[in-house]
Amino acid sequence: MVGERKEPYSTQRDRDLAQRCNALVAQAIQNVDFSFTLEESGQKYIYHRYMLHHVRHLIENGDIGVIEDPRYVGSGAIVAAYDRQNDKVLANRGMLGDATAGAKMAHEYTHAATDVMKYSMLTSASDEGAAFLVQRCCMGFGTKVNHGNFDGGDPLYRAVLDNAEQLMLSKNLAKDKKAVITAAEFKPLRDATAVYYKATLASMFQPDDYIRALGLKIPSSYYKNY
Ligand SMILES: [Zn+2]
Repeated sequence: MVGERKEPYSTQRDRDLAQRCNALVAQAIQNVDFSFTLEESGQKYIYHRYMLHHVRHLIENGDIGVIEDPRYVGSGAIVAAYDRQNDKVLANRGMLGDATAGAKMAHEYTHAATDVMKYSMLTSASDEGAAFLVQRCCMGFGTKVNHGNFDGGDPLYRAVLDNAEQLMLSKNLAKDKKAVITAAEFKPLRDATAVYYKATLASMFQPDDYIRALGLKIPSSYYKNY
């Protein structure tokens, strides 16, 4: 029944955080009308801007939560993560003013979209690559951008973003709404993502343990019906 839904956020502070994240993503994808299909192992996975809007809606309703993970408080390194097991975006409130926060948040919403779409045959590495591709699109859709502004000087992170940029430009994602990215075309980004995560995030908190799961299928047992 309309109007009978319980307020999903227990405090105004929690709701503010969710709305802040939703607003960041809305802004990040405002002019980023991406729609591409990723092929892997004979399957097709569609990623579309509206999927991120759907995630925003699920967050508004509390079907997907946004929480401030205490492990992030005071950390300047991570804007957010997506906890697939618990359907929660873990945000770092202190980093949401960062110039790249919107694109990074769109990255996490892409993981949530993978979850919502039940892309259960997609590997974690490809899920990660897709999220970086969306993130990169949000940083300058269809254009090259100045790396110095956003890569933090990490050559492995730069390689991820370079590969995402290369794919964005070569597949003309700013114009072609039916772009199909084959597994071979996607491989450089996928590989760069795996190298980056193995090197830099192995010792950090990972809700989905990407290091162990790279190359494995995303566990489908976590999916619920939204
Ligand atoms: Zn990710």
